[in-house]
Order: sequence, then C-alpha cells, then structure tokens
Amino acid sequence: MAEVSFINPLSDEGRHIIREYGDLNQIFDVDDNLIDICTHTYNQKISDDTLIPKSLYDLAMKRIQWAIEKKNNKNFTQSEFEYLTNEDLLTQDVVTFHILCQAIAIQFNTGSRETRLFIESQGNLILERLAKIPPMARTEIIDEVLDEVKVDGSIQWKTLKEIIASKKIKLTDLLIDDGQIILQQDDFLYRFGDEFTDRSPERMYNILIGDSVKEQILSRLIMQKTEEYINRIKEMSARIEIHPAIIKIAEDLKEFIPDEISKYNQYYAGSGGIYGTVQAGKLNPEAFPPCIKSTVEGVSSGGRNDAIVLLLTSFASYARLYPRIFASDESVKVSDMDPDLSITENEILPLIFDAAENCTPPLFDDQPQEKINIISKLGFGMHDHVDINHEGETKWYTPMSCEKIKIHLPNLCHPDKSCKGINNPLSCYGRKKFQLDKQEPKD
Ligand code: SF4
Repeated sequence: MAEVSFINPLSDEGRHIIREYGDLNQIFDVDDNLIDICTHTYNQKISDDTLIPKSLYDLAMKRIQWAIEKKNNKNFTQSEFEYLTNEDLLTQDVVTFHILCQAIAIQFNTGSRETRLFIESQGNLILERLAKIPPMARTEIIDEVLDEVKVDGSIQWKTLKEIIASKKIKLTDLLIDDGQIILQQDDFLYRFGDEFTDRSPERMYNILIGDSVKEQILSRLIMQKTEEYINRIKEMSARIEIHPAIIKIAEDLKEFIPDEISKYNQYYAGSGGIYGTVQAGKLNPEAFPPCIKSTVEGVSSGGRNDAIVLLLTSFASYARLYPRIFASDESVKVSDMDPDLSITENEILPLIFDAAENCTPPLFDDQPQEKINIISKLGFGMHDHVDINHEGETKWYTPMSCEKIKIHLPNLCHPDKSCKGINNPLSCYGRKKFQLDKQEPKD
C-alpha cells in the first residue's frame, strides 16, 4: 500500500523523514539514485536528458515547472513529469516539499500568486497520485490519511466552502450530520447503521459516499494544512536563521516562476491579442477615456464619492497594474503585480487622492472616511493605508462597465470616438494607449 507521507508530507512519518535527512547542502549534489528512479519510472519520457532531475534542487524546480505547465500549457505532457507520481521517490519527495514550503514562505507573501500556485499544485499532485493507486488500496490509504489529517476528530462542512464554491463537489454530494461531514465507513455505521433494516448499511455507505468526494476533500484539507504550515514558517522566519540552501532556492524561484509563466501567460509575455497585449506600464493620461478625464479633473458633489471611490480607484489600479483583467480568468491581487506596493503608494493613490482634492468641495474635507473606502476597494480591508498584511480582507474591485456608469454617473459619460464599440473604460484606455504607443518614435 502507498505510504501516508507520499499523500500527506506533513504527516508524522513525513516529519520523521525530514529529521533524518541531514545536511541540506547535499540538495545541490548529483543524486544517482534519484536519476535512476526517475529514468525507470513507468511511462516517463526520457528522450531528452533535461527532462530528468539530477539533484534535489532540480527536483524542486521541476515540481514548480510541473505546476506552471499543468495550469498554463495547452500542450502539457504528463509523461515529461511522470516520476512525480512514483512512490519510490518518497524520501526525495517529502524533502523537496518541505524545502519548497520554506523557500516560498521566506520569499513570497502569504496569498501571493506564487504561494497559491504551490499550494494548489500540492492538491493536484495528491489527486494525480491517488489516481494511480488501485481502487482497494486507494480506499485504505484515503481513510488512513483522512484519519491523520482531521486533527480535531471531525470535518466541519464550513471548512470546505471554497471547494464547494469551485463546483468540484456539490453540497448535495456530502453527507452532513450535525454540521459534520461523514466520510468514513466506521463513522457512517456508528451514526446510521441501525437505520437500515432491509439493506446492508455497508452497501449504502458505498452508494452514498463515493471515493471521488473523499479524494477531493482530502486534497483540499492537505492544501489547507500546507497553507497553515507556510504561514507558520513565515512567522518564525523573522526569529530563526534560514539555511543558505533555502535562501538560494527562494531567490532562484523569484526569477524562475515569472520566467516559466511568461512562456504561456500573455500578461507576462507581452505579445499577441487583437490590439497587441495591453501591458502594465506607467499610466498615460492622454489615453484616458472622457469619463476618467472628467473624474481626474474633479467632480462636483452629487456623483463625487462614486466617481472617486468606485470608478477611478478601480480604473487607475487595473489600468496601471493589470489591464488584462477582463481577458483573464485568474483571480489576482494588487501585490501579485506590485509586491512591495510601491507603485500603488507612489503612482496610483496619488492620482486618486489628487482627483479627490480637485472635487468641489474636496472629497476628504467633509468625508475623510472615503480614504478608507478607497483602500478597501483595492483589496486591503477597512484601513487608512495599504498594508500587505491586510490584503485579501476585501476584494480588489473591478472597473465599472460603461452601462453602469451611464446609469449611476450619467454626467461623466460624454463618449468620443475612442469609446466606439467598447463596453468598459479600461478597454477604451487599452486600445488608445496601444495606438499612442505605436505612434511614439522608437529609439
Ligand atoms: S462610453 Fe464608456 S468609456 Fe466612454 S465616456 Fe462613456 S463610460 Fe466612459
């Protein structure tokens, strides 16, 4: 049967492997055993020598590359990474997992695109591995891992709200009793065994609680544990000395992740699209559509608050940091594009605050609380300044559509020819900026 720590590297067994591992400097050494196992993994593609990791450092990078390719590469080929599902790599896998958690914790913000990528990939890897285990053994390992993961002895359905929201499982797929999810056979028989007189309770358990629901829940729970583990390391990293090997991986990941994503993601790559890719760059007021120009010049009371807090805040932040929002299905945060928030503080907020000052009367003179509303629309909660630790408390508000502006702020909408055929000021800005950039003489 598969080892628990191959599914849950945070298990007691996984922690034992880490304690026994020894000097972390060896992760950069060529590991013949690793090469041998990877090369002989069933279905592994070996036509190209670069496909096979040579050291634990390589394995860590390959694991991140797998996550990026699986998510972004339309021609993703699992056989190039098949060794990631080979249980013979148990020790190397557990060590790599812990190294990556530490490197990510010290290099990236909690909730950043990079941290989310790693946590999600852990959940996906678990599902890949479970899919390779024969059904009987799979049921056994799932139950064993679930037993270990549910520290408090039960799983509350509220802890799974994200997976239900993602539609991977439906609330109606779950058997809930007293707010607790019933997943294991023993628990089911204990609670409901007496209710079935004319049929076998075991059979009813198999009908009602399928393995696929348990797998999804298990994967989700381990993602949660991974996130908590990374957060704990982040807190501790200010007080303890980090091993140089971890620092090296953390620094390399900072370059490696955007480099790899840029092969598939137009936001990073900067090419393609009908008007070319709208790239993030300094705001060009010349390209602002009429409604935004009027707002920046100042609005008189009436639509003043909505113009600054709802229209301009979302427009300026997305136009500067992530103009492709409507072409992307990713959920993003300001710090994904502006990790130290310097652009937000030095370019975006001054533009918004200036526009607020230009209003008649100046917006903050009689309504200083609107500053907090602006910060909250950028995703940093109800505070008077942007702080990375508050990010995620509220959502980064997406730009209003022309239709909404026409209804709520009709005085600001005076379309000109740049507005033709668009339905959002951001699209109007992207098209005009692209045309203006094209006209600029090249050096
Ligand atoms: S049509 Fe849209 S972009 Fe143009 S002024 Fe009106 S609201 Fe702004």
